[in-house]
Amino acid sequence: MTKPARPGRQAPGVYHRTVGDFSVSALNDGMFEAAFAWLTNITPDEAARLHDTTFRAVPPRITISSFLVQTDERLTLIDTGCGTSMGPALGGLARNLRLLGIEPPDVDTVLATHLHPDHIGGMVDRDGKAVFPNAELVVHAADAQFWGDDATLAGAGNDQDRGFVELARATLAAYRDRTRLLTKGDGVRGISIVPEPGHTPGHSGWLISSGKESLLIWGDIVHMPGVQFSRPGAGMGFDIDGAAAIATRQRIMDMAAADRLAVAGMHLDFPCFGHVTRAQEGYAFVPEVWTPFGP
Ligand SMILES: [Zn+2]
Repeated sequence: MTKPARPGRQAPGVYHRTVGDFSVSALNDGMFEAAFAWLTNITPDEAARLHDTTFRAVPPRITISSFLVQTDERLTLIDTGCGTSMGPALGGLARNLRLLGIEPPDVDTVLATHLHPDHIGGMVDRDGKAVFPNAELVVHAADAQFWGDDATLAGAGNDQDRGFVELARATLAAYRDRTRLLTKGDGVRGISIVPEPGHTPGHSGWLISSGKESLLIWGDIVHMPGVQFSRPGAGMGFDIDGAAAIATRQRIMDMAAADRLAVAGMHLDFPCFGHVTRAQEGYAFVPEVWTPFGP
């Protein structure tokens, strides 16, 4: 008798929880190999030491997830992963949505934390067409302004930077007739925007509140959880304004720890949900305990 094939990949990268009346699902998009040299304000050796002492991969890997927020009436995605923009090892969002019985036309709204490829690559196909034909794109006005500005394109110093700008512009073009730009204090049906400037000018978290429960989906406050909780002063080379990104990370981590606020992030270890506590050095992340979902 032949034995079942050994596993090639994880069973679905999907995890559900509730926030009051909302169902929130983390949907993993994949993982890619990064480099400690991308970090700022910390030496690669020190970052590697932190990874080594916590049994994390060296060289580091960055995981990418998006979030689906459901009510009986609405299907909202918060970010859309890489799509085809970063190779075949990524772009798992579409497969994970399909496993939930969701096809792209079913999605009403896409809330973007910012317009980097690992967050919006899933919004357009190779031809620049909208993947979600019925979805409204909602993003902070400052991000749309920055990426749409000709000066940003002219200032892109290398092919990678130019690729970032071109994908953001292609996305804004594909959703041109159904884009809503928000600023501080705005929200969309119980999900409000929390400006977190620095990583990009309009980088924002999305705060889901219902009844007594809240969850902040904080975007790219952290890229490398093995480093940036204990060293919140360490930045990422992709930060558009490094000093502002560090100040924002300090402020958001401080708030989350003080308020015992549940958080989730696109680059936190899957399934991405947890709390922040103050630690001897900086902060620590306490992952939420896995629980079965449903009755
Ligand atoms: Zn990112």
